[in-house]
Amino acid sequence: MRSKSVWVDFKEIKEKVSMEEILDHYGLVKSLKRKQNELVGFCPIHDRKCQNKGCFCANTTKNNWHCFSCEAGGNVLDFVSLMEGVDIRQAGLLIQKWFGIVSGEDRKLAKEKEEIERPKKKEKKAEPEEAANPPLTFELKTLDSKHAYLKERGLKEETIKEFGLGYCKRGLMEGRVVIPIHSERGKLIAYAGRYPGDPPEGELKYKLPPKFKKSLVVFNLNRVKDMGEDKGLILVEDFFDVFNLWQAGCKNVVALMGTSMSDEQERLIVEAVGEKGRVALMFDSDDARKFGGQGALARLACQVYVKLTKLGEEGLQPDSLSKEKIKKLLG
Ligand SMILES: [Zn+2]
Repeated sequence: MRSKSVWVDFKEIKEKVSMEEILDHYGLVKSLKRKQNELVGFCPIHDRKCQNKGCFCANTTKNNWHCFSCEAGGNVLDFVSLMEGVDIRQAGLLIQKWFGIVSGEDRKLAKEKEEIERPKKKEKKAEPEEAANPPLTFELKTLDSKHAYLKERGLKEETIKEFGLGYCKRGLMEGRVVIPIHSERGKLIAYAGRYPGDPPEGELKYKLPPKFKKSLVVFNLNRVKDMGEDKGLILVEDFFDVFNLWQAGCKNVVALMGTSMSDEQERLIVEAVGEKGRVALMFDSDDARKFGGQGALARLACQVYVKLTKLGEEGLQPDSLSKEKIKKLLG
């Protein structure tokens, strides 16, 4: 039997998390001076009243650090270990948690566990508390908000800023443009990772955290809620549909993150628009058909006023519509 304890993959941590990200996690980057590939300043490890303000030096390319006063030094793990007063293994666990790293071994274990437990789960009724997406205990930092893909998709700077988008160089969503997802109450609960461009074979367009349940969330509902019920909602499928409509001035736009609508998503939408509220559906024709086919359209239509925009007839996509066209469609 394999040990039940959480696996710490030191090699993976060292590869995925940079010294600068660790310093950033502690809010220390600003207080250090950048000299080419080095960050130099007061040592955060030993006596912080130390007068020697150039004693600490972190190398941002080699991802190591050294203090010339207290003689401490090492890699990211050593740094966290000393900062937190814990051993290397515990430091590894902390870093995994902060940066959302699931080690290869854990992924394997989780899969095995899931396979063993699957039959059991069916018998057990879902408990509502378990069902919710818990708020994240970390935040992805040092995202590249100037990545070419964001520009390519026509996103403006204010949109990128508002939605907290950026390219992730390391960690959980490495090599992807991340989209923070919030609960309807505004708690950060997940990051979606969009492959920048057409994904190669075997790669998904979107990567979502394995435990994240998108059926319990309506994307962007946290921003829309305060906008007054009379305006209604525009319902789209994809994140980028939301971004395009949002920057065209339609701030009351939300996405299902797919074509199906769960009971919980339905409840959230109906609650948001209120009784006899309005929901405008902006799906392309194939997906509108799927939505209707699942009975989702009928379910919505018996609770709120639903308008089906006719995008499909003209082969239009919500993520690339012009402001004028959006107005005309919603008219
Ligand atoms: Zn020191």
